[in-house]
Amino acid sequence: SNNAAPDALSSRAGYQMASADEIKRPRLSVVAPAYNEEASLEVFHERASASARAVAGDDYEIIIVDDGSADRTFEIARSLAASDPHVVAVRLSRNFGHQLALCAGLSICRGAHVLIIDADLQDPPELVSEMFRVMEAEKAEVVYGRRRSRAGETAFKRGSAKAFYRGLRRLADIDIPADTGDFRLITRRVCDILNAMPERYRFTRGLVSWVGFRQIAIPYDREARFAGTSGYPLKKMVRFAVDAITSFSILPLRVASVVGLAASLVSVMAILYSLVAWLSGHTVAGWTSLLSAIFLVGGIQLFVLGIIGEYLGRLYLETKQRPLFIIDDVYRSQG
Ligand code: UDP
Ligand code: MG
Repeated sequence: SNNAAPDALSSRAGYQMASADEIKRPRLSVVAPAYNEEASLEVFHERASASARAVAGDDYEIIIVDDGSADRTFEIARSLAASDPHVVAVRLSRNFGHQLALCAGLSICRGAHVLIIDADLQDPPELVSEMFRVMEAEKAEVVYGRRRSRAGETAFKRGSAKAFYRGLRRLADIDIPADTGDFRLITRRVCDILNAMPERYRFTRGLVSWVGFRQIAIPYDREARFAGTSGYPLKKMVRFAVDAITSFSILPLRVASVVGLAASLVSVMAILYSLVAWLSGHTVAGWTSLLSAIFLVGGIQLFVLGIIGEYLGRLYLETKQRPLFIIDDVYRSQG
């Protein structure tokens, strides 16, 4: 084509543009990233299949993306694909993380509607019927689940998640709904737009909000994990939060300059004070305040530099334009 830009973007994400009539679109794609989910996958398959059948008859596919699991997740996904032609098992070359695994799944799925869901059954697949109903009734492009409750999660996780979503809403330039995960039903149009976004620090629920159109929330109760353990320990949660904030806001940089300005004003007052002290002959005292001031200003400088470094580092990593994920294997028994 004579318009090269979309292709350049899409090939970077491993995504092939194709016109509607080149592809036989199933009515629904279910996309589930899975990391060490061997104990959940079979039950997930059962419940997701029944839910998909309720809205799409036989016209659906289930994409399971194995994100470099250390257990038998891929073997199980592949055997599900061997016995069920609706299932596509995708293996990444290593662990790329939840968001990029999801990105890989979105690039492979072909459905006219796409359900994004976790493989650990914390998001009930049965909700897809209600999501379809709302999507059609409201003519929405996105229907997302809002967590009314979260079972089986520690008070710390619930508290930190709550604080995070409140904080993010204040910081971000766009309106990211609170208490939502990536559990949502999106249209092909939104999926194509997400696939054309080249950024590697992906906070998918924020990207979906950013796309716009009509987006409707429906409440649900988040269940406990069916089996296994969370792939988001504290360290990853913090990184995820920093990714989310830096992807959607440069407010921390502005805060950095405000903090710098405030520190400078305090310094001016301290200088005036020390001049007065010198003129009145009290120059020996002041060791404590001198030391405190040095530590304080040094600390503020490093903190502000750190914030700048966070953005600079991301800028650096984005400019390399490496692929977002590498697909090792795609297994489907037909089609
Ligand atoms: N996941 C993934 N790669 C990772 C970590 C998690 O694909 O590196 C998957 C995981 O299998 C699950 C979903 O992403 O389907 C959400 O992860 P998890 O349940 O660990 O997060 P939590 O629900 O505790 O926030
Ligand atoms: Mg989970």
